[in-house]
Amino acid sequence: NKIAIAIDGPAGAGKSTIAKEIANINNLLYIDTGAMYRAATLKLLNSNISFDDKEKIEKILKNTKIEFSNGNIILDDINVNEEIREPRINESVSKVAAMPFIREILVSLQRGIAKDNNVIMDGRDIGTRVLPDAKYKFFLTASIEERAERRYKELIEKGYQCSYEETVDEIAHRDKLDSERTVDPLRKAEDAIIIDTTGKSINEVIDIILNIIRN
Ligand code: C5P
Repeated sequence: NKIAIAIDGPAGAGKSTIAKEIANINNLLYIDTGAMYRAATLKLLNSNISFDDKEKIEKILKNTKIEFSNGNIILDDINVNEEIREPRINESVSKVAAMPFIREILVSLQRGIAKDNNVIMDGRDIGTRVLPDAKYKFFLTASIEERAERRYKELIEKGYQCSYEETVDEIAHRDKLDSERTVDPLRKAEDAIIIDTTGKSINEVIDIILNIIRN
């Protein structure tokens, strides 16, 4: 039987940084499910179709390949690691992720990966929907100010022009859409352990998780 660790939580809570480290330490495959929703969003934006055109969207996504290779996200054979982090994706991804048939496609891809590999998967619905039987489930949170601060630093480092206030608005808006959507909303699984990362260093959070999964 394969090992599965689920990490959920709002934007900027530190999920991906921490999951990546734990994957390295414990020799697990790290799956960033947000990157998959971002890749689907990129494809739709590049296809220039209306988000209301459900039929066309469905057709396009049925002919889309989303894969991971050595930690890179590959959309139709092209590495889109950088492109999926652009602000225009942040703006649209929660709208795309609220479409039930898109979730159906990606959730089944994610379950397929977890069937064949020992995984640590991060997202919004991993503990509740994708891997409800995961042995370990964590729900990472942090204050909105701290989450925005972390995101803002990342964006500035990458050379994007934005303000701290815009970053607060962007992640607050995304969290609202993610928690209020009807399919698989962002929420803590009943059996998930909450870790509030406000004021904690990455290593402190990693230690908390390692202590739990080693016992
Ligand atoms: O994790 P990240 O911030 O990259 O996720 C981008 C967006 O993808 C989220 O805001 C959410 O709308 C969507 N998402 C989701 N379910 C997941 C992972 C991400 O709906 N499991």
